[in-house]
Amino acid sequence: MKISIIGSGYVGLVTGVCLAEKGHSIICVDADHEKVANINQGVPPIYEQGLKELLKKNIHVNLRATADLRQAVIDTEVSLITVGTPFDGEQIDLAQIKEASHQIGEALRDKKSYHLVVVKSTIVPGTTDDVVVPILEKTTRKKAGYDFGVGMNPEFLREGVAVEDFMTPDRIVLGAIDPKSLDWMEKIYQGFENVDKVRTNNRTAEMIKYTANSLLATMISFSNEIANLSAAIGDIDVTEVMQGVHLDKRLSPIFENGKRIMPPIIEFLKAGCGFGGSCFPKDVKALIAHGKQVGKPMKILEAVIEVNQKQPRAIVSLIKKYFPDLKKIRIAVLGLAFKPGTDDMRESPAIPIVRNLSEQGAVIKAYDPVALNAAQKVLGNNNITYCRNLSQTIEDVDVVVLLTCWEEFQQIPKLFDNLKPQPLLVDGRRMLDKSSFSRYDGIGL
Ligand code: NAD
Repeated sequence: MKISIIGSGYVGLVTGVCLAEKGHSIICVDADHEKVANINQGVPPIYEQGLKELLKKNIHVNLRATADLRQAVIDTEVSLITVGTPFDGEQIDLAQIKEASHQIGEALRDKKSYHLVVVKSTIVPGTTDDVVVPILEKTTRKKAGYDFGVGMNPEFLREGVAVEDFMTPDRIVLGAIDPKSLDWMEKIYQGFENVDKVRTNNRTAEMIKYTANSLLATMISFSNEIANLSAAIGDIDVTEVMQGVHLDKRLSPIFENGKRIMPPIIEFLKAGCGFGGSCFPKDVKALIAHGKQVGKPMKILEAVIEVNQKQPRAIVSLIKKYFPDLKKIRIAVLGLAFKPGTDDMRESPAIPIVRNLSEQGAVIKAYDPVALNAAQKVLGNNNITYCRNLSQTIEDVDVVVLLTCWEEFQQIPKLFDNLKPQPLLVDGRRMLDKSSFSRYDGIGL
């Protein structure tokens, strides 16, 4: 199929590259000319494992980028909307969705043939039907369901493993206003065999995405609340608590041969310094705001956000237990991206932690295997030295604080052997074995 992707950020670019790899003919559209130029040169503007290789393979074969949205829509049969849907402090900000719908509608006004518009961005239930469809009908002066189709296809890829997630999805959710739109959407995903598909309406598709993210965010905040209580009671290690919980066979089923599987879901039942990223915080807040708007306050989700917002402070308090005055205390911060495998700094817990430590006069060395440049843009240089390798970062410091579970950090116990005296290790992710360190503290210990 000929597909235009409107918005070539994390989701748009990964979607475009992967659908090109599956044989579709793709035009990636973005308003940012620099992004467009980079994509056309085969340089992805973001770090994502495997993306560069697939982009290089498909660019100017099945894929090209442009800033000309109108022509891209006219030249294709389907347009996927993958623009940003940030939280504006009070509710979901639909400005990019409205603008993209408007521009697509204008392009479709003069187009004779049927066209399908699919929203892939995360939007609160009702947005496709009540916002996107009216804008498209007004600008095209045509009727949705007759002259053009409309669908909603939420994206579940995880940053860090986005290409793998897109190419081998665990589910494909297809919402639409009518069977024809649904059938066309099925054609986009023809190359994805043996994947469970949900065929539904737009509102349900939108709700599935929010429910999935809210459930995972809730599990994280729940674990952190248990961790903080464990630490306050004393003589309890939350990692042992959670291990005991994970062994419930409804969480980790035991097969007939006696073997137990530990499904990835238990990763969300672990204590840490909180969730971040471009999705969980904004999506949970958007659903809370939407609940209020329709007269259904979301009490559990309000608490999920409250617990999460406090969690970075737990890390600073842990350090202050050992160094009550942080002035001139030398701190190595390991991991700046909100999670491993990405350079995305959006809502990373490292941001409030580093800022707080720096405000209190700590002297910070920071390291992240891929997010250093992105972090420097957000955090600036005040009291922070950005280091290019792990061993250099942890030399001559009083505290090492670990904030992202990068695989590379498994080397820390070995590297600590060469440090005399050994700094305090504060494990914000409970990633390392506490018995490997002479001075160790962590969330929920
Ligand atoms: P992003 O900010 O990285 O990308 C959005 C892109 O859209 C930007 O490059 C911007 O320049 C472009 N854009 C905006 N308006 C445009 C217009 N009118 N014409 C052309 N280009 C335009 O955002 P993202 O992280 O890719 O997220 C996109 C959507 O997908 C959001 O709703 C998000 O919640 C959802 N989502 C994101 C992820 C993720 O892991 N990042 C996962 C699943 C779903």
